[in-house]
Amino acid sequence: MRDFHCQCGARVFFHNSRCLNCGLSLGFDPQRLQMRSLRVEGAWRVDDSDGKRFRYCRNQRDYGACNWLLPEGEHKPYCISCRLNRTVPDLSGAENIGRWIKLEEAKRHLLYSLLSLGLALTPANNRGVNLAFAFLEDARTNPDMAESFIATGHKSGLITINLAEADDLYRERVREELGEHYRTILGHFRHEIGHYYYEILVADSQWRESFETLFGDPQTDYGEALNRYYALSPSADWHKAYISNYAQAHPLEDWAETWAHYLHIVDTLETATTFGLISRDAEPGDMDAILSEWLELSVGLNALNRSMGLADAYPFVITPAVRDKLNLVHRVIRNLTS
Ligand SMILES: [Zn+2]
Ligand SMILES: [Zn+2]
Ligand SMILES: [Zn+2]
Repeated sequence: MRDFHCQCGARVFFHNSRCLNCGLSLGFDPQRLQMRSLRVEGAWRVDDSDGKRFRYCRNQRDYGACNWLLPEGEHKPYCISCRLNRTVPDLSGAENIGRWIKLEEAKRHLLYSLLSLGLALTPANNRGVNLAFAFLEDARTNPDMAESFIATGHKSGLITINLAEADDLYRERVREELGEHYRTILGHFRHEIGHYYYEILVADSQWRESFETLFGDPQTDYGEALNRYYALSPSADWHKAYISNYAQAHPLEDWAETWAHYLHIVDTLETATTFGLISRDAEPGDMDAILSEWLELSVGLNALNRSMGLADAYPFVITPAVRDKLNLVHRVIRNLTS
């Protein structure tokens, strides 16, 4: 994530909707991938740097939930992020609103990365797979719900996230139960979107053969594979071939986990560069150089966390086999055919 500045010069952040230094409104312009400092003019917000007029997304007005902007001439009520929502939870209580806002923030962070990488959210040639999000509750956290178990997952473009994932206690308990090294809301979004782009960019494309060579047969029976994964304890040396324990469950889960790590890596490198922690000299297309930078940064990041008494920020090892898989994700995203 880049950092952003208000027109007064103060550093501001991606989710800010007001500059604490000068009091101007702030909004994110997803067309330009930049924050705009905005003056109120009637129903409009005006950016004096270029005179352009905007409205906030309706979820800002109704819930203070979204700082993304719509340009003058765009008559839809919701921004390009909120427009992707198929279902939002019951927002009649403050607790649910708070949890939902956490999900929306992580979703916008994800979409920022996708747009920065040049990935279309609604590609013209989408093979009938439309991206959408459903944020749902189940009876485990809300006794009024009929569904007893809503799993976070992806199906034909629809990404479902259980609202309870926004609850730190719940998420940490599940992380412990599943023996995961890392479980975050942003990580969920990055994983699930990997399934979506598999369908858009890989399933029926020139990349399919390379996919099968590195990840395996995507048509491996899903139910059987997951049952086997949850029934057996993981092999001790899973980390030689997989970025995470869960990645060994199925070739498509391996892809989604690897895709998520690609986004962890490129986004964190961008943040580190922006804040002057590293000086990037890797070409954006050179995956070996990107991974060398990442190794150095992630080791430093873990050491910083330990100095603060925190767990490692990146508790993963990138082996040669994982490197090859990350390289395929990189080539697919950058459309590098050679
Ligand atoms: Zn300011
Ligand atoms: Zn919005
Ligand atoms: Zn998955």
